[in-house]
Amino acid sequence: MKTKTCAICQEEFEVLYRIQIKKGKSWIFACKSCVEKQKATNLGYRYGGTWKGKRH
Ligand SMILES: [Zn+2]
Repeated sequence: MKTKTCAICQEEFEVLYRIQIKKGKSWIFACKSCVEKQKATNLGYRYGGTWKGKRH
C-alpha cells in the first residue's frame, strides 16, 4: 500500500486530495482535515481530485 505526504501537515496518508491553495499556483496534495480547513478559510482553494494509494 502506498502513502503520500500531506503538503500542509507533513503526515502520511493513504488518501489525499489534490488541491490548489492559491490561484494560478501549482497543485499540492493534502489530507482530508487540511483540505477542510483550506475549504473553510482559503478563497483561492480549488479541488482537483482524489489520490488513493490503495488499489481496488
Ligand atoms: Zn494534512
